Amino acid sequence: MKLGVENVPVEVSTGRLPGWAKVEEHVEEAYESAKSVTDGDVNDSVPALAAADPDLFGICVAEVNGECHDAGDSTHEFSIQSISKAFVWALVGEHLGHGKLLELVGVNNTGMPFNSVMALELKDGHPMNPMVNAGALATTALAPGKTPTDQWEFIQDGLSRFAGRDLVLDNDVYASEKATNERNDALAHLLQNYGRIDSDPLELVDVYTKQCSLLVSAHDLAIMGATLANGGVNPVSGNRVVSASVCHDTLAVLATSGLYEKSGEWLFEIGIPAKSGITGGLVAVAPGKAGIATFSPRLDSAGNSVRGQRATALLSRTLGLDLFASAVHHDDDVQGDDEDAADSTGQSESA
Ligand code: GLN
Repeated sequence: MKLGVENVPVEVSTGRLPGWAKVEEHVEEAYESAKSVTDGDVNDSVPALAAADPDLFGICVAEVNGECHDAGDSTHEFSIQSISKAFVWALVGEHLGHGKLLELVGVNNTGMPFNSVMALELKDGHPMNPMVNAGALATTALAPGKTPTDQWEFIQDGLSRFAGRDLVLDNDVYASEKATNERNDALAHLLQNYGRIDSDPLELVDVYTKQCSLLVSAHDLAIMGATLANGGVNPVSGNRVVSASVCHDTLAVLATSGLYEKSGEWLFEIGIPAKSGITGGLVAVAPGKAGIATFSPRLDSAGNSVRGQRATALLSRTLGLDLFASAVHHDDDVQGDDEDAADSTGQSESA
């Protein structure tokens, strides 16, 4: 898409969170409310993940000023899984730039035009989306480094800078995923067949599996999200991790595809970009305000944390995070509003 606006500076206007005490109160409220939800199942596609305690639940909201609000098991560590895709995309975007990543990986949800007959259009293995495995593998393949070890170090170091501490590998999860990686191996071979990657497919899957096996907590994820909310500067360490424009690009992709096939529904209900993973992590980003992370291993059918969705939905409403919500500028002179019949979502309460 050629818009000719590359050199126009971006004016930023995002709003603020309520004060410290209110955020604390709403985090506690969201924790208590979502804790009562017992729907969903622990993912058992990888043996080492199946043993997770379904009752663990933590929330952390990290504000862009570096203040954190924690509730429950927010420091419990779990492997980052698919959430790594968002941050590796950002790091590789920083390395290659907006245009190159767009060309080599793609950012469209399905990549199909509105009237496509899908089977006829599925050719050349492109375009892809970086939040599904094929696109994530293609993104990892673009990480700088002469060897897979260099690429792994780039990713581990970059994700650690997002978190503001050294993230380490869960060796059991890594070994267990490596032993059950047939689908990812197949995707990598397919990418090679289409000429989409230069790397050795199995070495690429190995780096990708390591990135998924990095241990994080909800507290870490909130700070990682807050870094994307804060123009690319980690608000706790004060270090720049990526540029503000890379944050924008990453959040745009998360908005379209951060929650797999439920991404549209998520955006419709909650209204902020987010990324989930099969271990039960979920990080949402409210630009200019905060990173909101939850951890609970009970997942819905798409692989998204059930408690995490409920808690984030509550926080999006109570903290004023929904990017699509608006209020009337002067509400004292509105024609046609019937105050008794409409609630704050605009929906009529009278049947
Ligand atoms: N390691 C997992 C995979 O690649 C991650 C999946 C996920 O979190 N959705 O299949």
